[in-house]
Amino acid sequence: MESAISTFNVEESPWGLKQGIAHEKFLEVFEPLPEIKEILLTSESLDEARERLSKFAEELLWKYKNGEISVDSIDRWLAIESINVFLNIISEYGEKAAGFSTLEYLWKAAKGDKHVLSIITEGFVEEFRHLFRAMAAVSGYSKGWLGPKLEAAGIKFVDFSKIKGRKAALARSEYLDKEWNYIRGYLQRYPSGLDKEIIEKRKKQREQLMEYFGITEDEWFDYKWQFSHVLKREKGLETLRELNELGIVKVPEDDLKQVELAVKYHIPWGITPYYLHLWDFQEPYLHDRQVRRQVMPPDWYMKNMIIHREDREYYFDFMGEHDTSPIDLVTRRYVTIAILKAYDTCPQICVYCQRNWEVLEPFMAGSFPGWDKIEEALNWFAEHDSMMDVLITGGDPLALSDKIIDKIMARFAEMDHVVNIRWGSRIFVTVPMRITDSLAEILGSYIEPGKRNVSISTHVESAYEVTPEMGEAAYKVRRQGIYIYNQLVYQRNVSRRFENVALRIALKKVGIDPYYTFYPKGKIEQKDYLVPIARVVQERKEEARLLPGQFRPDEPVFNVPRMGKNHLRAWQDRELVGIRPDGSRIYLMHPWEKGISETKLYTYPDVPIKEYLEYLESIGEDPNDYWTIWYYY
Ligand code: SF4
Repeated sequence: MESAISTFNVEESPWGLKQGIAHEKFLEVFEPLPEIKEILLTSESLDEARERLSKFAEELLWKYKNGEISVDSIDRWLAIESINVFLNIISEYGEKAAGFSTLEYLWKAAKGDKHVLSIITEGFVEEFRHLFRAMAAVSGYSKGWLGPKLEAAGIKFVDFSKIKGRKAALARSEYLDKEWNYIRGYLQRYPSGLDKEIIEKRKKQREQLMEYFGITEDEWFDYKWQFSHVLKREKGLETLRELNELGIVKVPEDDLKQVELAVKYHIPWGITPYYLHLWDFQEPYLHDRQVRRQVMPPDWYMKNMIIHREDREYYFDFMGEHDTSPIDLVTRRYVTIAILKAYDTCPQICVYCQRNWEVLEPFMAGSFPGWDKIEEALNWFAEHDSMMDVLITGGDPLALSDKIIDKIMARFAEMDHVVNIRWGSRIFVTVPMRITDSLAEILGSYIEPGKRNVSISTHVESAYEVTPEMGEAAYKVRRQGIYIYNQLVYQRNVSRRFENVALRIALKKVGIDPYYTFYPKGKIEQKDYLVPIARVVQERKEEARLLPGQFRPDEPVFNVPRMGKNHLRAWQDRELVGIRPDGSRIYLMHPWEKGISETKLYTYPDVPIKEYLEYLESIGEDPNDYWTIWYYY
């Protein structure tokens, strides 16, 4: 079983949650199920506790299944799910998979063991408090997270068993309207770059930058100017400092310090002037966290990148691309698609980049491997007729010249088995003016109805990034008959209630279809970007579902190293097998090949939910808005 656990000893925690819980306080977690406390307190050994607890849980499970306990049917369903989780966690198999005994911590904490009480955190306590509530069917989940809020606002649930016909339909319609009004309150917190005031604000900011750089509007909208003025290295740092000193763009001291370190230690960093103008110049991190954090590295990330700068090629290769490359420039994890890495750099650097071990700097010298190497990789595709779909990526390959793009397209078009030629590019977000009429025409010219399609996968993170410029670029491409899909990395800076819904709506306006909602690269240097898996699933269930189907075709996925995407919506594709003393859940991920052929499971320690909720609170969110998160396993 492969694992991402090894970095930290089970009793250490990278998450910064305060360790140490008073015994009395800990015992409160058993309130919904005092029988569990009794068993733990009176068991003389771990094995005795395990045996008695499993007997108790199995009997309880049967009572729910058999209808002997009368509770709401949704609470009954959750009780059954949570009892299964509990049985997994206390099982010997679960312990072996997790690499430690959760039950031992639970048992010892219940008995008042000083050492254990000194290392567990609220994260551990809250996991069990909620697990026991769910097992006792007293979680309140059956009312939903929104139901009680609507009720408090006088919006009553329509019970179809009491009213019928038109009367029922009208009541239900009124209820749904009011529900939407309530949700709109959340959505208004996430302005889109298509909103009139934001367009106005950015026009002024653009003019300020144009004046600073001494350029005309034509130059600003020329992608070549954007490409050659990316803020990077010492010069980029100096520009940022100067913009700050002149009062044009406020940049917090700590951000400047991190960029200094990035420059000093050659850690990937860079921003295009276009992307810079999406920031709120005068109010850093008030409403623009989702764009600033995209490109401004935080302290923890920087420290880890510095520590591992010598071995980063392997240390940060989360997806194990070294093991999945049959030939240079090609990565293959699936049956009918492979990746061609045609350009190893991007116009700017996303801090959480999955390829931060190889994409080292914007427009880094030597990033174009040369046509001969590309030709060899293309020959590999020609020889593999399973390659129905090809993804040309990098880096950002749409930063290549039209000539090279055309040559790559022409070569793929010679391969009869290639049904879809797909470009992976973030250019719509970083330099949308790169999508010129001629580029769009080149791409579109390779569509042959009945034979071959062309598409683009892009990477928009928030509604704030969706601008009229992006809309224009997308339309140029769509007019050629090219589909555009979005791959969102669901990182914590874009994970507030309904934030992804706001993005889906903005994307619809510019004709881009949500495609994947990715769990971020699950490595600890990315801790300021990670969310609990439960949050991804909660968003899908409680927020995305409120949109029409065509607004939410995206699938939430977790990337299992070397194997690829694992669907998170399918609970049968993972098992919760442990809870560390810091509250981090340990999952056993089942790769997509399960049920198709032999495969190996992958162990993943998740973000403690408590830590994530504290983060949300620190940026002004109400953690109570998220309380159902505990019940997604
Ligand atoms: S656009 Fe993609 S490849 Fe480039 S830095 Fe961002 S995440 Fe990495």
